[in-house]
Amino acid sequence: MFDKILIANRGEIALRILRAAKELGIATVAVHSTADADAMHVRLADESVCIGPPAARDSYLNIPALIAACEITGADAIHPGYGFLSENARFAEVLEHHRIAFIGPKAEHIRIMGDKIEAKRTAKRLGIPCVPGSEGGISDEGEAKKVAKSIGYPVIIKAAAGGGGRGMKVARNEEDLVHALHTAKTEAKAAFGDDAVYIEKYLEKPRHIEIQVLGDGKGNAIHLGERDCSLQRRHQKVWEEGPSPALNLEMRERIGGVVAKAMQELKYAGAGTIEFLYEDGEFYFIEMNTRIQVEHPVTEMITGIDLVNEQIRVAAGHPLSVTQADIKIEGHAIECRVNAEHPSTFRPSPGTISYFHPPGGLGVRVDSAAYQGYRIPPHYDSLVGKLIVHGRTRNECLMRLRRALDEFVVDGVDTTLPLFRTLVRNPDIQNGQYDIHWLENFLKTGGLADVE
Ligand code: ADP
Repeated sequence: MFDKILIANRGEIALRILRAAKELGIATVAVHSTADADAMHVRLADESVCIGPPAARDSYLNIPALIAACEITGADAIHPGYGFLSENARFAEVLEHHRIAFIGPKAEHIRIMGDKIEAKRTAKRLGIPCVPGSEGGISDEGEAKKVAKSIGYPVIIKAAAGGGGRGMKVARNEEDLVHALHTAKTEAKAAFGDDAVYIEKYLEKPRHIEIQVLGDGKGNAIHLGERDCSLQRRHQKVWEEGPSPALNLEMRERIGGVVAKAMQELKYAGAGTIEFLYEDGEFYFIEMNTRIQVEHPVTEMITGIDLVNEQIRVAAGHPLSVTQADIKIEGHAIECRVNAEHPSTFRPSPGTISYFHPPGGLGVRVDSAAYQGYRIPPHYDSLVGKLIVHGRTRNECLMRLRRALDEFVVDGVDTTLPLFRTLVRNPDIQNGQYDIHWLENFLKTGGLADVE
């Protein structure tokens, strides 16, 4: 096992990793920018190293500074968390070169899945059902028109290097398509430095359902059921739950089985998520994330498996601590991403948290690095914390969530707590009847009119 892990991240996920490492008896090193000197992850780690100024490119994305921090502290592994360098294949290779373990999958797999065209090709080869679309990238208008005609409108143009819900354009007819192709390419180039785009069928009312996997890198891989992340704003997840209100046991086992088999064939190492759109009883692969995800606690709550612990074990060359037969989905879990944003305009609200009272009690988990007096720096994402609630049934979970949301107090900055208090009381949400467009429509039609 590792002696010391350096955590190349900040905020709640840095704390999450720190907790898993401590429970394994492994020493921890926090790194931080000058803006994060007072951060909770820095206080709780055994050691800490300042790696640069506030801008992420000079600190949390600064590979030489991270390697130097490992050398200074004698850390033998790095956990990248999510975001920042977590899906950077070159980073994984550089670490290997320096004989520092990367707690994540093989560089080769990060690279394949980081290119969405290559990812789709690989998924198809592994027998995973995909959204109908172009075989590869689209080079010109003529090709785009041909593909769109054959799959039928509407279509969506997506950036091969895309992420974070950016670089997607919908076209409802040929006229739209020409314009969408050019804007998608221009935006992809500006955002990702790569203008490669591809086309797929635009699904009108799908749910976003993703399967959590764990692999040992040697051909053993299992699935841990699904999370339903259909409640989105600007293609970004807001509320995640598991199991999905739309799936039954048979469907879960069918898609889980396909995915686990594909990951066995790939010899995938560590934690990963295979994302699907689900419509009319069919699953369509959209992408794979080769890292721990923000919403991983949903799966932890319904399976009792510590996913970060498994990531660390596998990276150190140990087998997974569980087999497929050990995975039992119990009860229901919901996660709310509480951001420091205005609850109806979503304007970021950095500032100082003057009062912080997280909820507690049976089945309530708060993953947060916030505390009373904490100043939220303007340089990073606006996540204040994640509220994750577990109940024996979905109904119990919803009632508990309602209670926990009412207990949660964050003063001094705006937060999205009022949005969740409204959602948890909404009949469509209570009935589990929502697709990926539900939240946008709800917001557009004044669903938050009562929220100041
Ligand atoms: P990113 O990597 O930027 O998150 P994804 O491919 O994972 O992009 O898609 C993010 C979200 O965009 C999906 O959850 C879904 O809401 C929407 N989306 C993506 N592809 C399609 C499609 N073919 N049809 C309809 N919506 C889509």
